[in-house]
Amino acid sequence: MRETCIFCRIVSNEARAAIVYRDEQVTAFRDIHPVAPTHILVVPNRHIESVNALEAEDERLMGHLFIVAGKLAREEGIDRGGYRLIVNTGADGGQTVFHLHVHLIGGQRMMHPMG
Ligand code: 5GP
Ligand code: ZN
Repeated sequence: MRETCIFCRIVSNEARAAIVYRDEQVTAFRDIHPVAPTHILVVPNRHIESVNALEAEDERLMGHLFIVAGKLAREEGIDRGGYRLIVNTGADGGQTVFHLHVHLIGGQRMMHPMG
């Protein structure tokens, strides 16, 4: 738990968020500035800065995080239409919150990210 990290504070209930899923390993909540009808962030409960900081022991955790993202996509009803999972990493990758998170974005047709 990092006192200065907004996602750690959401995980520990010190900061408010619209939480849609929580278990012993991960928490999911709605993005405060949604870019599509569904925009959920899935984060590990433990503070991990980014993909850069992942270690071999995190393999199950990251697998679980993606399983939860898929389950939430089904619950949101966007699994058939499709959706996008994004993990921005570092400044060049557009990461602004340095607590690893997967964006689950869907509910509308999206432009291809590579143009
Ligand atoms: P990044 O740019 O790091 O990939 O994504 C960070 C995301 O966190 C952004 O989409 C931003 O809107 C969201 N965000 C930042 N602060 C908060 C917050 O306090 N609450 C919630 N629910 N989302 C946040
Ligand atoms: Zn954190």
